[in-house]
Amino acid sequence: MSELSQIPSIDQLLKSREMQNLLGIFGRPLCVEAARAVLGDIRTEFIQRRNPVPDHAGLIARVNQQLEAWLEPSLVPVINATGVVLHTNLGRAPLSQSTRLAIAQAAEGYTNLEFNLETGKRGTRSIHASQILARLTGAEIGFVVNNNAGAVLLTLSALASGRKVIVSRSQLVEIGGGFRIPDVMAQSSSELVEIGTTNRVHLHDYENVLQNEGIALVMVAHHSNFKLIGFHSEPELADIVEVAHHYGVPVVHDLGSGALLDTAKYGLSHEPMVQESLAVGCDLVCFSGDKLLGGPQAGIIVGKAELIQRIQKHPLARALRSGKLTLAGITATLAHYLKDEAEQELPIWHMIAKSLDAIHTTAENWREHLGVGEVIPGRSTVGGGSLPTEEMPTYILALDPPDPDAFLCRLRKAQPAIIARIEDDRVLFDPRTVLPDQEAALWHGLSASWAAEQALE
Ligand SMILES: *Cc1c(COP(=O)(O)O)cnc(C)c1O
Repeated sequence: MSELSQIPSIDQLLKSREMQNLLGIFGRPLCVEAARAVLGDIRTEFIQRRNPVPDHAGLIARVNQQLEAWLEPSLVPVINATGVVLHTNLGRAPLSQSTRLAIAQAAEGYTNLEFNLETGKRGTRSIHASQILARLTGAEIGFVVNNNAGAVLLTLSALASGRKVIVSRSQLVEIGGGFRIPDVMAQSSSELVEIGTTNRVHLHDYENVLQNEGIALVMVAHHSNFKLIGFHSEPELADIVEVAHHYGVPVVHDLGSGALLDTAKYGLSHEPMVQESLAVGCDLVCFSGDKLLGGPQAGIIVGKAELIQRIQKHPLARALRSGKLTLAGITATLAHYLKDEAEQELPIWHMIAKSLDAIHTTAENWREHLGVGEVIPGRSTVGGGSLPTEEMPTYILALDPPDPDAFLCRLRKAQPAIIARIEDDRVLFDPRTVLPDQEAALWHGLSASWAAEQALE
């Protein structure tokens, strides 16, 4: 039992000279908690496993470790070397410099979020992004909520609760993360009227149902992350709008990714654009802020003022409203499109537009820097529920560690974590999605991990 008596009391430990530094950094209450936890563990370890009691320096180190573990942030930056531009698991779109600045400025102090600077009276937060959205897309007004799933739920709840909504069977999709069109409709208490078949839907399928009373909306949903091929057809959006309007029923288009630039310009197939849906007469268009728009997480509704004003009055609008940081960030992101500089300024468009030559040079630089690996042609993808099966040619640095899975795991422990992928037993790094100011960190983490892997052999 003599060893147990060597364990100091919490008070003794806290009073020791070495502890004063930690008290200064972490504050007294947390240090007391940490000291209690560590001394308790040491007592248990001694009693159960006869682990020797650490000396004083050892105790302080354990307390320090405990404090750091408790304070370690859970959400941390990572390097995306996967080649998936809008990687949902990695937080989708990285933000432009001026978007980050706008968010920081809004965060710093007070803002006129709901305050009218002209009248000195209460204002509304919904005006902040509305005008710029209208100017960019041709809509009457725009409205920003928390995310696009929220935008769709809110739209259906406000305009179709207890009423019927027509959706084509080919569009009853699940986009992942638990978002299924039929389930969202059920949540909004609207009644789904399915038309057509899984692979083929005709205009007369719409017309047959539209002739009935009590149809609140026609909803058209982007297929998002899946693709129908073979014997498949759907009517043109313009024709659906025409027949719906003939029966006085508004059309809502859930676009998902919501491109404002033409993806066809970058050798990809054409992703439907927000402006196009409005141009053919859709009454409302919903899309994400952090997919092909390239901004912070948000859901955006644009279209007819009368419908959006009804949406804004629904109680769910309060629950799904966006914060000042989002509004500042979305507005700054949209400004790049107005100034025709989206491709240069928004990281995701910059990545999509990157020339094959530039990627090749970067991959070669990496290989030279590391002194190992091989540069091979490969494929990057857009991701984020847009352009399924579409790929962009790229160049990739391929490494052949003895155990690819173990190497991937080691890379995830680098600071910042490096996320790569395995194909044919090779570990691949795609320069397309690595931000320029992360390259040095990538080299550093990659060389250290590679050296550690070699040392194991
Ligand atoms: C991604 C997507 C959504 C959901 O958008 P979030 O911004 O992730 O909530 C809804 N509908 C479609 C068609 C989508 O592709």
